[in-house]
Amino acid sequence: MASTSNDRRGWILGGDAQCEDPGALPRRTWRLVLMGAPGAGKGTQAKLLQSTLGACPLSTGDLFRACACAMDDPAQCACLSNTMFEAIEKMRRGELVNDEIVCQLVSERAGCLQCAHGFILDGFPRTVHQARVLDDILKDRDVALDGVVDLVVNRDEVIRRLSGRRICSQCGASFHVEFSPPKTKDVCDNCQGELIQRQDDQPESVAVRLEAYEESVEPLRNFYRETNRLVEVDAAAAPGEVFLRVMDKILGRVPEMAS
Ligand code: AMP
Repeated sequence: MASTSNDRRGWILGGDAQCEDPGALPRRTWRLVLMGAPGAGKGTQAKLLQSTLGACPLSTGDLFRACACAMDDPAQCACLSNTMFEAIEKMRRGELVNDEIVCQLVSERAGCLQCAHGFILDGFPRTVHQARVLDDILKDRDVALDGVVDLVVNRDEVIRRLSGRRICSQCGASFHVEFSPPKTKDVCDNCQGELIQRQDDQPESVAVRLEAYEESVEPLRNFYRETNRLVEVDAAAAPGEVFLRVMDKILGRVPEMAS
């Protein structure tokens, strides 16, 4: 089993920040993108893939949520630009943040994309423009994607998953009121923190997020399909089963794994 100790400081803080304990190098460097509607299970699969492949889950949503927390803290708030304030407001309404801002944040963290531990991008790219920027960043660093995993789930299932999702306000652990409830209602099993509903999981935001997703996903799928990098996985199943499906498909793409 690969190391899971990486705290992702390099990704969350950007700039010169270094991950505190990246752990041992994995046997193979995996570089994957996870696509899928909000609630398709990208975050859950990213963690499962991390524990098996050793690659680091890198979520652009986490970057915006970290900035949103900084916005509520007067000491850190002054460091945020007006552009970032606007981006956070968009996130809270469930809208997509402008390509320019997202691409800038990712470009500033290009070191994470070159890291020998590899990466599992979660929530980026979401548009063809972002996908082209990612290709440019990778090309400049002479690294290539192993695959783009598309977790396919229908709209009704997505709404059921999102509306029941609860997140620990302290450690970020994820629960679901129906599919994986905590032992005590509204209390985190891991740290006893309060479980809350993400602002963008509220019904009004979910509708906007799904609309934004549906508008941008088909061109993105085609972009990766045409370049033979798209790996479609039926994700309407329990996380462990979906994980096996993902592993089966990505291992099948890599010639050295076949021997
Ligand atoms: P996620 O956690 O991936 O669902 O992202 C949460 C929110 O962050 C999204 O609804 C967007 O507002 C914003 N966001 C994250 N990644 C991107 C992206 N690649 N492009 C545009 N907006 C993004």
